[in-house]
Order: sequence, then structure tokens, then C-alpha cells
Amino acid sequence: MSHWLDIVVATPAHSSVAGPLTYASESPLAPGQLVRVPLGRREVLGVVWAERDDAGHLSAGQAKSVAAVLDGVDPLSSGWRELIGFTASYYQRSLGEVALAALPPQLRELGALQLARRLKRAAQAGQEPAARPVLPELSAQQQTALLAFAEAEKPALLFGATGSGKTEVYLRAAEQVLDAEPGAQVLVMVPEINLTPQLQSRLHERFAHLGAGRVVTLHSNLTPAQRLKAWLAAHSGQAQVVLGTRMAVLASLPGLRLIVVDEEHDPSYKQQEGARYSARDLAIYRARLESQRLAGGTAQAGGTAAPCRVLLGSATPSLESWQACLKGRYLRLDMPDRIGAAQGGVGPQVQLLDMGLQARGTVLAPALMQAIAERVARGEQSLIFLNRRGYAPVLACHDCGWKSQCAHCSAFRVFHKLDRSLRCHHCGHAEPVPRGCPDCGNVDIAPVGRGTEKLEEHLSELLADLRRPDGSPVRVARIDADSTRGKGALQSQLTQMHEGHTDVLVGTQMVTKGHDFRNITLVAAVNPDGSLFSSDFRAPERLFALLMQACGRAGRQASQGGRSQMWVQTLHPGHPLFAALKRHDYPGFAQDELRHRQGAGLPPFGHAALLRAEARTQEAAQAFLREVAEAAVQAGLPGGQRVVLYPAVPMSLQRLANVERAQMLLESASRPALQQFLAAWQPLLAQVRAQAAHRSLIRWAIDVDPLSI
Ligand code: ADP
Ligand code: ZN
Ligand code: ZN
Repeated sequence: MSHWLDIVVATPAHSSVAGPLTYASESPLAPGQLVRVPLGRREVLGVVWAERDDAGHLSAGQAKSVAAVLDGVDPLSSGWRELIGFTASYYQRSLGEVALAALPPQLRELGALQLARRLKRAAQAGQEPAARPVLPELSAQQQTALLAFAEAEKPALLFGATGSGKTEVYLRAAEQVLDAEPGAQVLVMVPEINLTPQLQSRLHERFAHLGAGRVVTLHSNLTPAQRLKAWLAAHSGQAQVVLGTRMAVLASLPGLRLIVVDEEHDPSYKQQEGARYSARDLAIYRARLESQRLAGGTAQAGGTAAPCRVLLGSATPSLESWQACLKGRYLRLDMPDRIGAAQGGVGPQVQLLDMGLQARGTVLAPALMQAIAERVARGEQSLIFLNRRGYAPVLACHDCGWKSQCAHCSAFRVFHKLDRSLRCHHCGHAEPVPRGCPDCGNVDIAPVGRGTEKLEEHLSELLADLRRPDGSPVRVARIDADSTRGKGALQSQLTQMHEGHTDVLVGTQMVTKGHDFRNITLVAAVNPDGSLFSSDFRAPERLFALLMQACGRAGRQASQGGRSQMWVQTLHPGHPLFAALKRHDYPGFAQDELRHRQGAGLPPFGHAALLRAEARTQEAAQAFLREVAEAAVQAGLPGGQRVVLYPAVPMSLQRLANVERAQMLLESASRPALQQFLAAWQPLLAQVRAQAAHRSLIRWAIDVDPLSI
């Protein structure tokens, strides 16, 4: 007799209405079991979701049979399946897409079986437990934060200045969890792959006593074999500490008791394609889910800490998390002081340079150059930050007005001097710089504006005559996506900086994140004004975080405290954002910004989603959006009364790689209403899409809680 099973396989993005597929099996299979099943002509990986009573609408002869059972791998837990189910429904994607994207593709291969057995054996074989390392004595603020965290029942936000020792708090919290329960697991998330090596070595060092293979890293840059191995280690419980980027939030972690989200405000936690999930938000949800499951589904009894905790950390929290603290949903843990800072040391002194008072065309104000020169003479380092890579953002002909427009995007191609190319930073289209203007033949085409490459050149020229304390010439270096393309390039450039070979480092936001440079006493933001008046309501929040983060790179040693500085060149020195920066006052900034958001009904006070459409023409993309909005009104969709649909508009990057893009914003004061509406809207979107009039439509996607608008 056959057993009927609902099995989830990779399904196209928009078949959210279509659930799992039905298959037959000779033997009963547990929910969560990994299997291989026929799909069309292929055999694909699947996850048993549930056993069914019958074959449903299929006749017994129609249902295909499970081809193989990956019985070397334990079934995925009900908690994991629930997390995947929530992610799919909240972010309006298909269950199959989300589930299969969370699994390493190589599981499909039978080699996984052997690997799993090997892992099991390795885990069983006795270990060479190393001694525990000697731990640094905690600062008073670290101690207070840890105690409060241990007693709290809700998610906690560690609001700690850069250099206040947040990482040590994460490590101790992890240690407590691992000590308390033999099979416990901890997930530590960081926003970027670049930040994993440093933390990885600290984790390995700290948890060496647990035995080999207990710390693994999970991110998208692993080879398929590495990813499989790390995933299996997490799934089997062998790995007790999993360090990862956003994808790790969906890993199978049967013993999960703590999730740490470092730099929780970082936009990299939001997935920007497929299921556009926020790994930070999912971490909160997952911890709650696990806690409820562990507590047997009953409400928490007073006084006992939740069995699965979440610890967010940032010097500039997202306004969502900050508001959650104000409302008492999260517990705030404050660590305002840097480790070893002199009493009351608040960080670098902020200098605002009014660029309106400088000579026309000034790139770096003389006062700033003077301050940099003083650092060089003292053997200290400076960090110059400009959020635009390449040499110049555009190449132009001053005779006829030609500009280096990308042929495929509504953007300019950026001039890269090093290889004399014009490169589109959006579609990647690259060409050698033409000999003369393509329109009028004028040979005098010139760069306009400035990127990191040109800034590096300019600084080298301005500082050419200066000498370091040992009499050698000044060294200017650059770190951005271009200078770090080669394997190991970033690491070697960072080493140059750490070892003091570099005097002045020019870079994009890449250099502002996480690096613990010890000898920087000056940080400068060359041209941050663009974000002050952006159409994207989150731009000021991002700018403030970026500037605070950049600021945190300076004066990391107490001995430098007094003379470390952050310089900001701006045409708007009176802007309240800069005033808050000068005071190192995130709470003040947050208060202003939240008041503004509340007035406008923007997140975190309201909830938003975007419907994006891509087509060959802008007209077709917008027509689709208008039509589906109209269809929603006609159909009187549930939740629709409480959802505002704004008019269709072109996206800010309107054309990308020859595809025209448009979007429509949806807002609601009620998250459930918005969710209800979106779920009911999906079938209508598919219907309208299927109509002949929209043949030219390429695709559409819903972005729930979009980060940029
Ligand atoms: P954050 O993540 O808050 O920016 P880090 O965790 O990088 O700060 O800590 C800053 C520096 O202080 C690091 O070099 C770290 O090793 C050191 N540190 C952290 N806690 C302590 C402590 N309790 N005693 C001594 N040094 C510490
Ligand atoms: Zn010309
Ligand atoms: Zn392009």
C-alpha cells in the first residue's frame, strides 16, 4: 500500500498559491525528511512536508513515487519548517523557492549521505579538548549588559559605541548558553562576508575547548562542497557556533538557543532578490518561535528567561529596533564608553567644514589638508571616505555635451583611469575609453566629478612633498570594490594599513565597517551631502549610521583620544543630522527622525510594501501596475480598506540592462491588513500578467518592508 506525501520542491517564484506536490511512497516518511523526487524530466531535491490521507486530486496512477530517501540526514525539524513557512508567506514567495534556497544544492547528490555519516562518526569520535583561553576582565558596562541580558525575557538590543566591546559581550553570552546545555547552538550573524575572517578567528580561539569542528562559517561565497559541509555540521548539531551572513538565518539548527545579530542596522541583512527577507527580522521571529516550541507552546511563565534568545547589537541601531526599545518590546543594553577610554571620552571631535566658504572647485579644504599633513608628520594614519568608486562618475565632451551614458541603463558609465575603461556600475557593461567624443570627434573629453580613484591621485599629488617621521615619502592607498577584486587583495591591503605602511587610506563605505585599525586619528567624509535630500526616506538614517561608523574608526587607543578628529565637508553645516553627529548623539538623531516618520506614517509607524514591474517599455511596466491596482479595487480585496496604493512611478534607476522598471508603493497602518491584502492580490497579479496585453511584461515582484524606496 502506498503512502501519500506532500513534498516541497523548488517551484517558480510566483506559484505561492501552489503548495507542495503530492508523491507516493512505499514506506511512511517523517515530515522534514529529505528526498529525491522526479519533477518533469529531472530528479530534484525535496522535503517531505506532511503525510496525506489520499492522493488528493490525483488518481492513484498519476502520482509519481519518491525516487530516493536521503536517510543519512536527519529530518528537518518542525521548527525549521515553520520558519520557512512563515518566511514564504510573509515575503509573498512560494514555499518551495524559500525552502530549497535555504538548503545547500549539493544535498541532491548522494555524496551527501556519505558525508553525513562521516560527520556523525567524527562527532562521536572522542575529542582533544583544549584548555579554555584566559578571558579579559569585563568592563563594568559589559558586566551590567551581560547580567541584564541573562535575566531578560525579550529580545535585547546592545546599544554600544564603536569600541565599547560588543563582540566580547556576544562571546560571553554565547559561552553562557553553550555551558548551560550540552547540545546548544549559537548563531552569530554579521552583515558582510568581509567581516567574517576576523570574527571567525576570535570564535575559533574562544571555543577551541569545545573540540574540533565546533565552529563553522556559512555564507554565499563558499564552494558548494564547503557550503554542504558547513550546513550538515549545523544540521547534525556538531557545529555549536555558526557564524554567517544573512542566509544563515534559515540554516537548520536543531539546538539553537541564541542568535546574535551584529551591526543589526546594516542594509545587507535585507535580501535584495528572490524572497526579499530581512535576516534581522527573521532572527527575532525565529527566536520567538523556538522559544514557544521549547516551552511547549505555552506562554512563558514569569521570571524564567526565554529558552532561545536574540541579541542585536549596533552603535547606530535601525529606527525599527530603537522604536521597539522605546515601546518596551526589546530591552536596551547601553555601553556608551569605549574600552579603555579616558573618563567621559566620547570619541573623535567632529569638525564641520562649510564648503560654501571654500574657493570654487575645492575638493579637499586647506584646513583638512593641514590636519592630514600633521598626522603624517606624527606617524599617524588618516582615513578619507567617499562613497563613489572609480575615477570620475562621468566623462563628458565640453564641445557638444556628450556624456558617458550607459547604452543599457539610465545611468552614466564611470570612468576608471587605471585600465582606461568606462564601466557601468549597474549592469557591468564596460568599454575602453573612446579616443575622441563619439558624437563630434572632439579629442578633449574630460572627467567630471570625482571618485575614489581620482581622490587617491589628488591626495598623492597634494601630499607629495611631505615626509613621514622616518624621512620616507607619504603612502596613499585605496580600498574599494575595484582595488579588492583579486583574491586576498582586501586582506593584504588591510594588513598594509594595520602594519602602518599606509599613511592615508582612501575608500568607499567598505573601509568604514568593522576594521579595528589602531593608529587612525583622523577620518574625513569628503562629500556626504547627497543623502541629505534623497527621495528615499531612509537615506538620512543610513548616512548617520555611516558617518558614526566612519567616526568609530578614529582614536581607538585611549592615548590618541584627545586629538582624534572626524571631518565632514558639507554645504549644509547647519543640518540637524550633522548637529547630532557633532554631539555623537544617536538618541537625539533617532528622536528627530522618528518624530518625522510618525508624522508621515512611515516605518516603523506604518508598514510598506512595493510592487515592482519590469518590461521592455516604461509604459508597459506602469500599465501593468495600474491595471493590477484597479483589479484590486474591483475585487474588493480583504484588507484593502486599510491599504493605500500610490500611483505607479518609474524606479529611481529607471532602466537597467535594457529593462524598464516601475514600482508602486503600498502603505498601511496595519501589518496584518497589508499581509492579507498582498496574499489575496497575488492570484490577480498572475491573472493580469497572463493577459495578452502584458506579453511585454518581463516580471514582477513584491518587496515587503522594502529598505529603499
Ligand atoms: P565593538 O564591537 O563594540 O566596536 P570590540 O568588541 O571590537 O568593540 O572591542 C574593541 C576592542 O576592545 C577590541 O580590541 C577588544 O579586544 C577590546 N576589548 C573588548 N572588551 C575588553 C575588555 N573587557 N578588556 C580589555 N579589552 C577589551
Ligand atoms: Zn562632443
Ligand atoms: Zn548599464
